Amino acid sequence: MAEEAQPSAGIKSCILCGVKSEERILLSGVDQGKEVWVCVQCLPSLIHGAH
Ligand SMILES: [Zn+2]
Repeated sequence: MAEEAQPSAGIKSCILCGVKSEERILLSGVDQGKEVWVCVQCLPSLIHGAH
């Protein structure tokens, strides 16, 4: 039985630096219809770097 792994079902980690929620606060968001997680350290650069 080979079920596809669901990315959002496992351990959550920052999409930018990969840090886990155990190490730093992660915030959830939606990117192109998919749920993503970004840590508080990467969030500012994500905001200022967006478009
Ligand atoms: Zn991060």
